[in-house]
Amino acid sequence: MEIFEGSWSKMEAVRCRLCGRPVRTNHIDPEDAADTHWMCYHFAYEHDVDPDQPCSDVTCPLRQNEIFRACLRQLGQDPEQLLLSFLDETYRRGTSDRTQRPH
Ligand SMILES: [Zn+2]
Ligand SMILES: [Zn+2]
Repeated sequence: MEIFEGSWSKMEAVRCRLCGRPVRTNHIDPEDAADTHWMCYHFAYEHDVDPDQPCSDVTCPLRQNEIFRACLRQLGQDPEQLLLSFLDETYRRGTSDRTQRPH
């Protein structure tokens, strides 16, 4: 179990019933008591293919990633190249803390 520090530990945070971590965003639907992260719910119940592959749901984050990449290609941009230059810039500015990877 993770230890949550700061203001979150003082609040009665709703915990995702699938992963147990606090749900910070407003994806809680009182209608069907889906007290889960949207992402956890999608991958547990809706995403019916390999988790590394996009499913047919247009709200699937992996599907959307694919759509955005296709749109970029249509605009004559190379998504991989854009990603690399973004990462390059982020490292150069030293503003990355969460995307940092060991070299
Ligand atoms: Zn969750
Ligand atoms: Zn999906």
